[in-house]
Amino acid sequence: MAAVTSVTQTKNSLVDQKKSLLDSTQIVIKEALTKLGYSNEMYELMKEPQRMLTVRIPVRMDDGSVKVFTGFRAQHSDAVGPTKGGVRFHPEVTEEEVKALAIWMSLKCGISDLPYGGGKGGIICDPREMSMLELERLSRGYVRAISQLVGPTKDIPAPDVFTNSQIMAWMMDEYSRIREFDSPGFITGKPLVLGGSHGRETATARGVVICIEEAAKQVGIDLKGAKVIVQGFGNAGSYLAKFMHDAGAKVVGISDAYGALYNEEGLDIEYLLDRRDSFGTVTNLFKNTITNQELLELPCDILVPAAISNQITADNANEIKAKVVVEAANGPTTLEATEILTERGILLVPDVLASSGGVTVSYFEWVQNNLGYYWSEEEVSEKLRNGMVKSFNDIYSTSRFHKVNMRLAAYMVGVRKMAEASRFRGWV
Ligand code: NAD
Repeated sequence: MAAVTSVTQTKNSLVDQKKSLLDSTQIVIKEALTKLGYSNEMYELMKEPQRMLTVRIPVRMDDGSVKVFTGFRAQHSDAVGPTKGGVRFHPEVTEEEVKALAIWMSLKCGISDLPYGGGKGGIICDPREMSMLELERLSRGYVRAISQLVGPTKDIPAPDVFTNSQIMAWMMDEYSRIREFDSPGFITGKPLVLGGSHGRETATARGVVICIEEAAKQVGIDLKGAKVIVQGFGNAGSYLAKFMHDAGAKVVGISDAYGALYNEEGLDIEYLLDRRDSFGTVTNLFKNTITNQELLELPCDILVPAAISNQITADNANEIKAKVVVEAANGPTTLEATEILTERGILLVPDVLASSGGVTVSYFEWVQNNLGYYWSEEEVSEKLRNGMVKSFNDIYSTSRFHKVNMRLAAYMVGVRKMAEASRFRGWV
């Protein structure tokens, strides 16, 4: 009985955490709209997605039984254009989380000046326990369930946690069969041979690195030899560690869900990359590990949370030693911790800016699909760099001009175009 109670408590606390992500997003959206002079009516329009669809997807499992999965698709705002955002497959996906993530996508699109609003999808499932055939049936079933609501000019999905280019390929194929014509622009993050873009897989990490470079200039850190800690060693964290290492920085700490590694002389990143598995796990190969919480508080110049939400809170914000915190993960720092870090003079580069490289290159993929003309890796990198540098500097100068922290500044920049488009359309 005690075990059941503790499982229920853990589940409830996860649900509360995800609800609090939505609550804190709404608090900052309201502040940003107020600073920009918009009425409460605008906030009422923006505080939740315009559409939220819940679907039930029956899937024939390999043992012959049928399992019914629950999925979601949220569309936050189509004032600027079609909505855009990833689909995550995870056992702890909740409706509240998908709503918050859709709003963040709107902000990222606003910050990067893309012609989109935000969307997000999720399916409650554990892909680590499913076969490839079961995953294919689930991916196709999800597309059939949401096909009326999505499309290349309506809402364009993409990969997210535990979804990849193979899943995007199945989803694109299913949509193309339903519509009876080839529709590569329906989804981004596809394999190159199906209309994917060069640079998509590494785009989030590249965008984070560009933010680190810009932040380092502002704070006066030389990246050659700078000490970097990266929490999380998955798609975002591992590429990021590699790029920082290649740039001459000293990656002194990394972690995964099971623990963390720290060496003040610098870790052997090539070796760790070679040994990590496809879920971003590597610390299980070592005896001398520390906890994730210990890692965050160790000395470094740049700290990059690239794993999960709610990692820097009022409880540990005073212990952070970094001069710059760059949020590659969604929601790793609470609002209280944001205040504490800012008061302590630590430059915080918020998630909606730092991790916007992924959606930026997804946009490039969609443009290339619409044109039927494909760009080189160099063209994609250059366009991404120009966009990220501009976004960073817009937000940095907004923060200085309005004397607000970088998170509020990012929300002000991110919400502005969507609010203006809503006003011109006569919605508010
Ligand atoms: P991933 O699943 O590839 O990797 C996640 C990493 O975090 C793994 O190393 C995992 O072991 C670790 N992790 C999981 N639970 C943990 C815990 N409790 N404590 C410490 N580490 C833990 O995911 P990803 O694609 O790298 O995404 C990481 C974060 O970046 C997420 O918040 C995601 O929303 C955000 N993000 C990713 C992208 C992208 O393109 N990959 C884009 C935008 C934002």
